[in-house]
Amino acid sequence: MSSSNKDLKIYNSLTYQKETFSTVNNNSVGMYVCGPTVYNTVHLGNCRTFISFDLIYRYLKHLGYKVRYVRNITDVGHLTDDTDEDKISKRAKIEKIEPMEVVQKYTNEFHSILDLFNLLNPSIEPTATGHIIEQIEMIEKIIENGFAYVNNGSVYFDLINFSKKYKYGELSNRCFDEILNESRSLKGSDEKRNPQDFALWKKAEDKHIMKWRSPWGYGFPGWHIECSAMGHKYLGRKFDIHGGGIDLKFPHHDCEIAQSRSVYGENPANFWIHTNMLTLNGKKMSKSLDNSVFPIEIFDGSNQNFTKAFSPMTLKFFMFQAHYRNTLDISNDALLAAEKGFKKIKSLKKDINEITSNKTNDFNVMEWVNDCYQTLNDDFNSPKLIAKLFELHKVVSEIKSSRKNINSKNLILLKKYFKVFYDEILGLNKNSSKNDNQNELLKLVLDLRKKERDKKNFDASDYIRDRLIELGINVSDK
Ligand code: AMP
Ligand code: ZN
Repeated sequence: MSSSNKDLKIYNSLTYQKETFSTVNNNSVGMYVCGPTVYNTVHLGNCRTFISFDLIYRYLKHLGYKVRYVRNITDVGHLTDDTDEDKISKRAKIEKIEPMEVVQKYTNEFHSILDLFNLLNPSIEPTATGHIIEQIEMIEKIIENGFAYVNNGSVYFDLINFSKKYKYGELSNRCFDEILNESRSLKGSDEKRNPQDFALWKKAEDKHIMKWRSPWGYGFPGWHIECSAMGHKYLGRKFDIHGGGIDLKFPHHDCEIAQSRSVYGENPANFWIHTNMLTLNGKKMSKSLDNSVFPIEIFDGSNQNFTKAFSPMTLKFFMFQAHYRNTLDISNDALLAAEKGFKKIKSLKKDINEITSNKTNDFNVMEWVNDCYQTLNDDFNSPKLIAKLFELHKVVSEIKSSRKNINSKNLILLKKYFKVFYDEILGLNKNSSKNDNQNELLKLVLDLRKKERDKKNFDASDYIRDRLIELGINVSDK
């Protein structure tokens, strides 16, 4: 969060000041999170961001807030760096399918992956293509207020004009003069008054498949405007939380603030939350850097960087061991350690149900519970909460071996609150045994194929490979 921790303590109780809620009612929270661009399979880095926001969503709900969680699907408007080509259209050409087929395919896949991680669905999941009218209306208002101009069928945000009234780059704390001097020449720069002006609407060439009619001719929206239009439509003029990965802070979120200020004169969100990056060998995991690790490869053990398969809950536990604001490096060793740790915590469920109460009591459960709440109130500090679960593991072991006692009142509380933190807030309660079985079956089929290949029985091994490809499982002999 860009605000201080002191501000975050607001979430300690339900007495959040009424007037700061502009959404549905006094006890509600409006949260907007930038969703995926659905032109490719989401990687584990993307998942880390959505897992972090799931924890925040679950915790606020647990505290009794009525949370409206809006997470969009970017299905148009993300241009590739050096051309005017939309990433989705580009993918459609590669896969020889319609752009909307690309969108549907990767949206479905995104949902099933998040489901494996046991994430709750957002309250609203709006798509950019479903909100073209809202985006056009917002652009019209920005032009009307003098912060954008039309040139050759495209509309650009006028940063010089904006900066006369407001600060551009307030979130990333950038100095506008520096931004102006970054003279990266992008395509379309010649249409702009200043190379750093960003597109609100782009004129579409005839060959462009994804285009819509607008007051400026056929075109498509720029990337930043979709989140502003959909955020305000569903959460009002000012909402509580706006989030996304830290890579979106600049320019995406600073551009969103500029757009909202141009229309409403204010920053759209009370709090900006940015999750830090998942890295591989110290480098940001990114589709463009070609170092993506895909969830399914981890679940079925097919990624070469990892010696075995890891379950979705192990991955989630691994991610919770770091605070969302810190970077986190994924490696085989780190996952092996997380798996070991998670096994211990998972066993608590069974152990707590098996221990028996006594007349005497050495464990004040409510003290432990209050500590757990404190960790979450401290900027949703999941690693500290995990540390509290390890502490609990030690105490429960002592009770199990009769070195400590717990009375019935405390045992009832323990059962109740373990469920609250483990199931309800961390959402670690998804049973992956079905998944584990599937992995074992897959290993069996791959072993059989290898045996056939070793015997040079290529008809059989190719048949198995082709059938697996039909099921979406790529077999590599490397
Ligand atoms: P994209 O589909 O690229 O727009 O990304 C979807 C979400 O994932 C955004 O909120 C990004 O900031 C976030 N994201 C992208 N890469 C990473 C990463 N390596 N670690 C954590 N979050 C990421
Ligand atoms: Zn966004």
